[in-house]
This record gives sequence, structure tokens and C-alpha cells, in this order.
Amino acid sequence: MTIFEEIKELVDVPTAARHYGVEVHRGNMALCPFHRERHPSCKLYADHYYCFGCQAHGDVIRLVQELFGLTPIEAVKQINNDFGLGLDVDKPPDVTAVNRRRQEIARQKAEQANIERMYDILIRYYTLLDRYKMQYAPKSPYDEIDGRYVYAVHHIEYAWYLLETFNRFDKEGQKEIKLEVDRIEREYKRIIDEWGE
Ligand SMILES: [Zn+2]
Repeated sequence: MTIFEEIKELVDVPTAARHYGVEVHRGNMALCPFHRERHPSCKLYADHYYCFGCQAHGDVIRLVQELFGLTPIEAVKQINNDFGLGLDVDKPPDVTAVNRRRQEIARQKAEQANIERMYDILIRYYTLLDRYKMQYAPKSPYDEIDGRYVYAVHHIEYAWYLLETFNRFDKEGQKEIKLEVDRIEREYKRIIDEWGE
């Protein structure tokens, strides 16, 4: 494995982009650092980027080269330093360090996926209650009150509160409310079973 391959293996494009101050939005769409734009049109993949606005593209080394005006080997050194990879640019790679870093990347990815899943549960729960509240509200004082409406009225504020809290928290805080999100997920399934989507 060359030092170039190794760098690419260890640092993915979205991680490097964020680290160097590129503004990354949902779905790994970024504000392109190579042309002026207000809406993100630069798609970041794990191993490359492609801008639909200016067609800039490349791998993580190219990204860092272009960002800082470096040669390829300078970009390699820059990434090596900034991410504390500890690769000896002039020597054969340390396999243990590479493996450790690889495991760490896998762990971070799993953590990110978990957080996205939690957000998804909270937003689905809130959206469902919001719809119940609108759709099943009594139309006149003589209507029998629908259970879905009652449920929504009682729980929607808390659902909103949880969603807000979740968005405000950092990763550590988000992990801490995992148990509560699990409970919401069971609750969401229970309601769907009883009343449907
Ligand atoms: Zn661009």
C-alpha cells in the first residue's frame, strides 16, 4: 500500500471536509469551497467529491491540495499531521496503527447512523401526533372525542420537547437520551398497531 492509498483509506472525504471548515449539510451535500454558492451542490462521498455546480472533483488528497494550494505529497503530510495519523511518510506503514484507525472510523460511522436513526424516530412520532391532532379533532361539541385526538393532545408537547432537546444536544447528550428514544420507538409502534399510520 502506498502512502497515498493509506491516507485515502484512513480519512474519508466528509471527515476531512468538515475538519477544514467546509460547511456540510444533510446527505453529505456541502457548500462547494471552489465556487461561490448559497445552496450546497458539492456531493461528498466517502472516497471522493463531485460538485454539480463547477464539476470540481477528486479524492481526499486532491481536496486538501485544492483547498490549500499544495502538491500531492504536501497534502499527504498535511492530512497526516492534522489527523494525527502518525504515518511515517518516508517509511513503510505501521499496520497496527492503520487497523486501529480503521476500527475507529467504523465505530464513528455506526455512532452517526445510530444518531440519525434516533432523530428519525422522534420526527416520525411528532409528525404522527401532529397529524392525529389535526385530523381527528372534534368538529362540533357533540362529536364523540376520538382516542387519537386525546392521545395527540396529551403527548405532542412532550414529543416536540424531545425533538428540540435532541437537536440542541451534542453527540454525548444525544446518546444519553437513547433509552427515552427507545421507549418512544416502542410507543410509536404500539400506536401504529392500534390506530394505523
Ligand atoms: Zn463547485
